[in-house]
Amino acid sequence: MSTTPAPENQMEAIVSLAKRRGFVYPSSEIYGGFNGFFDYGPLGVELKKNIRDCWWNDMVRRRDDVVGIETSIIMHPKVWEASGHVAGFTDPLVDCKVSKQRYRADQLFFAPVVIDGKTVGYVSALESEKTAEDLQAAAESFKRKKGIQGTLLPVAIRDMTEAQPDEIALIPSPATGEPGSLTEPRSFNMMFQTNVGAMTDGSSVAYLRPETAQGMFVDFKNVIDTTRVKLPFGIAQIGKSFRNEITPRNYIFRSREFEQMEMEYFIHEDADWSQCHQEWIEWCRQWLISVGLPESHLSLYAHPKEKLAFYSRGTVDIMFKYPFGVQELWGIAARGSYDLTQHANASGKPQEIFDETTKKKFVPHVIEPAVGVDRIFLAVLCAGYAEEDVTDEKGNVEKRTVLRLSPRIAPVKVAILPLLKNKEALTNRAKALYTKLKRNYAVQYDDGGAIGKRYRRQDEAGTPWCVTIDFDTVEKEGDTFTLRERDSMAQRRITETELLALLAEHVY
Ligand code: ATP
Repeated sequence: MSTTPAPENQMEAIVSLAKRRGFVYPSSEIYGGFNGFFDYGPLGVELKKNIRDCWWNDMVRRRDDVVGIETSIIMHPKVWEASGHVAGFTDPLVDCKVSKQRYRADQLFFAPVVIDGKTVGYVSALESEKTAEDLQAAAESFKRKKGIQGTLLPVAIRDMTEAQPDEIALIPSPATGEPGSLTEPRSFNMMFQTNVGAMTDGSSVAYLRPETAQGMFVDFKNVIDTTRVKLPFGIAQIGKSFRNEITPRNYIFRSREFEQMEMEYFIHEDADWSQCHQEWIEWCRQWLISVGLPESHLSLYAHPKEKLAFYSRGTVDIMFKYPFGVQELWGIAARGSYDLTQHANASGKPQEIFDETTKKKFVPHVIEPAVGVDRIFLAVLCAGYAEEDVTDEKGNVEKRTVLRLSPRIAPVKVAILPLLKNKEALTNRAKALYTKLKRNYAVQYDDGGAIGKRYRRQDEAGTPWCVTIDFDTVEKEGDTFTLRERDSMAQRRITETELLALLAEHVY
């Protein structure tokens, strides 16, 4: 029976498992951690690498129309001027002058408390799954505390970017509960700055990239000139990006250093961009399902036209149902010819393609699917985590924690378990199998403790299969092992050839 924790406790359980089993650690933990930064442990790096490898294989190697590149993290500062990031890669920031806390203005909500048609004060709350309920409760509590009689209207909530100047002084800070300490929202640039070279004046300022995408635009001409790509084609890259997020939160969902997998798909200026956009949305959705995300947890969100950047033709996000709410996992944007045009203008180097049919040059348009590795990592942990009551052979009920990860991305594909560690016949056969499998697969050899305990250890690590080398293996004909499946816990006998076929089918 599945006893998976309620959503409000699920994150705690996942964070605890991830720490305990070496998936994710807080960064610099011995110094108290560092907000917005994380380390990936031995199982975590394997999972992350598998996510990257699956994406790279499917996106680049298995397609004829996409090539890969790897560009530098620190690029010429003019790249970020041309792309618009220096001027516009900002979040609205509100400070609390008393507590020194900082808030993203669009995540800090408030509402006037209106009693019998008269505004008697304000309440505020940070964005959550139940912001409206929190604000309604705060308004009722405000009314009670102030002892005001009358009918309280349902709260009309807004965020701090919508606050009028005369309201700001009246809105309480979430940190102190008192009004008067919040500042007006101001723009905060999220790019991390550094200095390149020995000088630390303005002339040496450079930025850690906040996205990998600009690398593809800046190297567009290089790729055209050095490969045989023809429109439509894509350039893909995986790499670290950095954003000085005002409020990093929800564990690795929003961090300050993260990894992106982005692809710029260039199309003819006259191509049907909308159809291409739709095809990429579906490709991305199917890819997420192929690495084990349940279709039921995925949804699409089309950005409203009025909120799009002026050059954007349309953006659709693939959303995932995390325990803390439905949130963006993968953004697929139709960006027109904006980026290449910006770089052509700023660098003075045309970014055009010659059309053999019309004999005219043009700047290609682009569809950009951009996803965060860490967000996929968190999604597969959330979707895969389960706690179950299981009954052993003696009828005892015990709890098992299991990570149902797809074999494609599971950190360990097979665990090789000799039934007893002091019987050479068993350990020799187990080691031979282990040595053979580890040439091609991530496998683990484990001879420590009761077999049931070893199965549980692998369940928590997300290992899809355990292979036990028992007395039947070495004493009976056929050289068969016990194959134990993680999800069903079913056991059956299997030969080495069958095991290799099973792996080849599911691990790709
Ligand atoms: P959000 O609205 O959540 O801040 P965004 O729309 O700014 O995200 P993009 O600029 O489109 O994100 O980046 C593409 C992808 O990179 C996102 O869909 C997400 O998967 C990932 N990503 C962006 N910011 C972060 C972050 N701070 N931490 C982890 N992943 C991130």
